[in-house]
Amino acid sequence: MHFTYCPECGTKTVLRRMGDDGDVPYCARCQKPLFDMFSTCVLSVLKNSSGELALIRQSYGQQETFVGVAGYMKPGETAEEAALREIAEEIGVTADRAEFRFSAWHAAKGQLMLCFLAEIDRADFTLSGEVREARWFSAEDAAKSVRPGSIIERLVLTAAAQQ
Ligand SMILES: [Zn+2]
Repeated sequence: MHFTYCPECGTKTVLRRMGDDGDVPYCARCQKPLFDMFSTCVLSVLKNSSGELALIRQSYGQQETFVGVAGYMKPGETAEEAALREIAEEIGVTADRAEFRFSAWHAAKGQLMLCFLAEIDRADFTLSGEVREARWFSAEDAAKSVRPGSIIERLVLTAAAQQ
């Protein structure tokens, strides 16, 4: 989001030189720079002790391919907490831990994706209304079940490489 108006007071922003950051929208009334804003999301793949990977299919959107468990971060939580929260909310299981793997810019959505590998013993899923299906795959099958070239494919390949 690029600020043409100040979200606090509604004043039209002006561009102000901010050192190495270059020209940044600035509210002269609040005396505040308004850097471009974007959402940060967490994206997780679950892995069990057998090396299987769990992926989900959503109840909306691209339903043919499987995806990871994803969601927006909330203020006040760490990315690790957000990853575990989304897993609990969407598929009803408590992962032991979520380990950060890499970040990626999702150009189509204008979002920063923080990608995690979450560890859990094989568990029964309790799906939220947003999730149509959750399934364990071999690492090889998981890589074939996601959209080629996607961030989730990269995360699955990263997980598979660690076997
Ligand atoms: Zn303002």
